Amino acid sequence: MFIGHFALGFAAKRVAPRLSLAALFAATQLADIVWPFLVALGIEQVRIDPRNTAFTPLDFVSYPYSHSLVFLCVWGVVFGLLCAGIVHDRRMVLIAAVLVVSHWVLDWITHRPDMPLYPGSIKLGLGLWNSVPATIGVEVAMFAAGVWTYARATRARDASGRWAFAAFVGFLLVNYFVNIGSTPPGIAAIVAVGIAGTAMLVLWAWWFDRHRTPVV
Ligand SMILES: [Zn+2]
Repeated sequence: MFIGHFALGFAAKRVAPRLSLAALFAATQLADIVWPFLVALGIEQVRIDPRNTAFTPLDFVSYPYSHSLVFLCVWGVVFGLLCAGIVHDRRMVLIAAVLVVSHWVLDWITHRPDMPLYPGSIKLGLGLWNSVPATIGVEVAMFAAGVWTYARATRARDASGRWAFAAFVGFLLVNYFVNIGSTPPGIAAIVAVGIAGTAMLVLWAWWFDRHRTPVV
């Protein structure tokens, strides 16, 4: 899943208004933030296979440390403790941990059976990606609900808070549709886009979220 993870990050602002949207996105995307580094190091493997599923040409051969349920629980606790230390709110451990683990649940719904429970376990996946219309329907509906929730949970303080937010939503949607079914030129490109793209999106979110105030 792609924009579905952002949908959950947006919606979480309602229950965690003191956490920056950047931290909420980093939580829901933590698996995909760690993943390109592990691929670059050769610890996890991905292959380009143009007919792997209708939606994506990526064959996730092995990714037990970034994408298994057990490891995401561990990453979740680590990330939660980090957030709790920053905002001095112990409830954040639970919220951030749930967001990190949510990545597994959403990927389990979309991926073909390639999601491990723990390193070496059987692999699971409901395969929503086998249908492009169903994937778009589910993800766009989730994204719309998430953006709506965030827009109501916060108020723009200035033009940056309004327009950088709107531009971010537009950029994610355009990027999502442009990339459906497209084949990346190689693994190095996947790694580079994975690292640089996510860093840019998290920074962008940090910026416009600072220009919006939570509505209590
Ligand atoms: Zn993922």
